[in-house]
Amino acid sequence: MVLSCSLALTTSCRKSPETAETKEKSGYQGQGKSPVVPTVDKPIQKQWKGIWAFNDRMTFFSNKFEGARLNGVAYDGNDHYTIWVTAENTPINVSPWYAFQVWSEEPRDITVQLNYQDSRSRYYPKISTDGRNFTPLDSTKFKAINSGVGEFGIKAAPESAELTISVTEDPTWITAQELYTSTIVKEWVDSLSQKPFIENYPIGLSKEKRTMHLMEINANEEANKAMMIISRQHPPEVTGFLAMKSFIETISGNSELAKEFRQEHSVFVVPLMNPDGADNGHWRHNMGGIDLNRDWQNFHQPETRNVRDFLVEKDKTYDFVFGADFHSTWDDIYYPIDTTVTGEKGKIVFDWIENISERLPQKKTNISASDQIDPTMVSSKYFYVHHGMPAIVFELGDNTSRPFLKEKGKVAAEEIMKLLMEQ
Ligand SMILES: [Zn+2]
Repeated sequence: MVLSCSLALTTSCRKSPETAETKEKSGYQGQGKSPVVPTVDKPIQKQWKGIWAFNDRMTFFSNKFEGARLNGVAYDGNDHYTIWVTAENTPINVSPWYAFQVWSEEPRDITVQLNYQDSRSRYYPKISTDGRNFTPLDSTKFKAINSGVGEFGIKAAPESAELTISVTEDPTWITAQELYTSTIVKEWVDSLSQKPFIENYPIGLSKEKRTMHLMEINANEEANKAMMIISRQHPPEVTGFLAMKSFIETISGNSELAKEFRQEHSVFVVPLMNPDGADNGHWRHNMGGIDLNRDWQNFHQPETRNVRDFLVEKDKTYDFVFGADFHSTWDDIYYPIDTTVTGEKGKIVFDWIENISERLPQKKTNISASDQIDPTMVSSKYFYVHHGMPAIVFELGDNTSRPFLKEKGKVAAEEIMKLLMEQ
């Protein structure tokens, strides 16, 4: 059963009957209960990697870079192109990731229509000239085709989109969201690990043998309370990653609060749970063709096993006091475990959400609490059931403004540090 509540009114969640009151609720209400799905390997489609050349080698498209997803291109005449983007396998949640480069021997404006397999145009395109710094495509260059209906969910997205791109001889990147590949994430991990109290080390390999890196914030060898933070089980969920990045930078920061917090608490972070998916432009799954956030019961996939084994080992010396798994969806939403299950211990999560909401009243965020913890399947339930951590799935909207994501990550870090130190 899924429970939901509006934090503006109360922090206790009740079953919501179909009343006039519930119909008035605004904002994204969240998805329903996740069905139990098998997590043994399924075949996936790896994309062909290469460069498409058109018009006597005048215009080029490429997917030869980390994070790319481009499965086909056709020239339709008059500088118009059609692009196909397909998922790694099906069935799959519709989050059509695309990322490609385009250039031309002579500067020109081209139009590109995006087509996805059984999906609609969920992500608003980002543009970059260096593959690092991205901005949303200018709205005058974006044409929605067959607009959707409603405010949230795939039906609200246009069926397709046509983009106008001013191409030059230097590549332009067009991507569904900003690129945070395994290389770029590792650069961030390494830069933060310059601090004397932060180190990072491998905790195992992914299915395609990429190293999974764990960052450990540990300022005091005597500190035996710990927090577990993960993100990017789902590759396109970049906004969740950005909030997590700000959250961790705040805990690692120079504030008195953070310094005091680090004297009693260590923090373990796996910022990129699905490096293969991120580098191969997967819509959701790992290289085993599986949604990792359904594998915390049976552990058929190496990525979830690596974190499980790490936690089992650390649980011998640490008391885990909080866990969070950062994701992205249609809009910001919290998925905690209901206090009817977690009791007194779990109240900290609801107090935390309330404190964040008080400091960020400009964005009302719904809560969808679950009272089902068996089977564990998803990370937060595994964290609670096997390691006693009050835990949450922290979801950020795909289109939530980037400065707000950063602020929310910072506020979330400050508030959890305060609450944990009061305990
Ligand atoms: Zn997710």
